[in-house]
Amino acid sequence: MRYISTRGKAPALSFSDVLLAGLAEDGGLYLPETWPSFSLSEWQAMRGLPYPELAARVLAPFVGDDIDEATLRRLCAQAYAGFDHPAIVPLTQVEDGLFVQELFHGPTLAFKDMAMQVLGQLFEHVLTQRDSHVTIVGATSGDTGSAAIEACRGRKRLSVVILHPKGRTSEVQRRQMTTVLDANITNLAVEGTFDDCQDLVKACFADAPFRQDMHLSAVNSINWARIAAQVPYYVYAALNFGAPEREVSFAVPTGNFGNILAAWTARKMGLPVRHLCVGSNRNDILTRFLNANDMTMKEVVPSLSPSMDIQVSSNFERLLFELLGRDAEACARIMTTFRTSGHMDVPAEAWNTARELFSGLALDDAGTETEIRTLHQRSNYLADPHSAIGIAAGRRFREPGVPMVAMATAHPAKFPDAMVAATGIHPALPVHLEDLFSREERYRTVPATPDAVKDAVRAAVLSNAA
Ligand SMILES: *Cc1c(COP(=O)(O)O)cnc(C)c1O
Repeated sequence: MRYISTRGKAPALSFSDVLLAGLAEDGGLYLPETWPSFSLSEWQAMRGLPYPELAARVLAPFVGDDIDEATLRRLCAQAYAGFDHPAIVPLTQVEDGLFVQELFHGPTLAFKDMAMQVLGQLFEHVLTQRDSHVTIVGATSGDTGSAAIEACRGRKRLSVVILHPKGRTSEVQRRQMTTVLDANITNLAVEGTFDDCQDLVKACFADAPFRQDMHLSAVNSINWARIAAQVPYYVYAALNFGAPEREVSFAVPTGNFGNILAAWTARKMGLPVRHLCVGSNRNDILTRFLNANDMTMKEVVPSLSPSMDIQVSSNFERLLFELLGRDAEACARIMTTFRTSGHMDVPAEAWNTARELFSGLALDDAGTETEIRTLHQRSNYLADPHSAIGIAAGRRFREPGVPMVAMATAHPAKFPDAMVAATGIHPALPVHLEDLFSREERYRTVPATPDAVKDAVRAAVLSNAA
């Protein structure tokens, strides 16, 4: 399997190279050259498989010849060994025709673990094969950083440096990162905002000699391997509801468009997916696009669902490329104009195609709180603010006879303030995190300057090698 860039000017790469490269050289995102698909009997044969085995089957065509099947099965088994639910991605019913799939049973209580745990295993495997080392530098507003740290802790071939905006993440989120004391993990508390953190990471990557010296790599959601590792749970849900003979729809609380792009990918592979529903908070660029072809950037406003507080959904570029009939030149032109003008000019034909499959619903904080309360009162289900938005979108677009599965992306204990406000209940942290508030923390505070961050990255790489 080879991968090509959405902007058409980067070399085609193998799965392992895409894993290590992240973003394409031409600024585009990598996609498979052709979409793999499964036959009716292949889908049927996956029914009833334990989740890690199902994941290995679904990932195999994306990985191609880079990793043999037995190894891939072992890596998937190790990736999900630390989850605290035997089904890994359990399904629950909340209303007639409306179901929830819980993706938060991994170590950091958010769905980022689903892909990141697989990525940690893949990195280790590929770097061992190549006898090489990489330095992962990333910015986080909360969930991605802790998922990356948990997936990479203790791995000699990986140095991980995560920047978070000092004092601007929740205490649970900060402690999930800063209480990991392994030698290969460095937390930097940046005196600035999340945007400053992202700019500082970009500055590290833009310094070519530094990037090469340090073997920089990224694990943000533009990495194709992350999307691929999110496809299996859509397959798992659909098979449980009668696929490939029966259709199913999905509702996904959406930020960077990574999770829902994985659902779209499952459909591309032949899974009978009827409808895809995007849930947004007040940062509703995707819902505005779906309702009115209005993809215009606005200021980010903080909400009860911080992991969806973004103004640009980077993975949308992959869908755009497909909607444009894989015209890389047109895709590059539209994306460049979007960056400079703040408005994405999507051709009417492409927009209409998107609307046949996707719908969008946006909830403000008051609507989110009402949804959390109502779900708890009527269905005795505790959904965190992100998941509640997905469930609301699922209810809005549910059709008779087609099961609607909403993705629950975070454990309610991750957002205790919102849960108390909506329901009066303070959800308990799972056993493995019970002592989180008494654990030792370690992080360095740095000013928001590229030099300070680069020095810290150099020091991190040296101390991991020692
Ligand atoms: C990251 C995240 C999302 C958004 O997922 P995307 O793939 O960026 O669309 C939603 N909910 C939670 C809890 C998250 O951590």
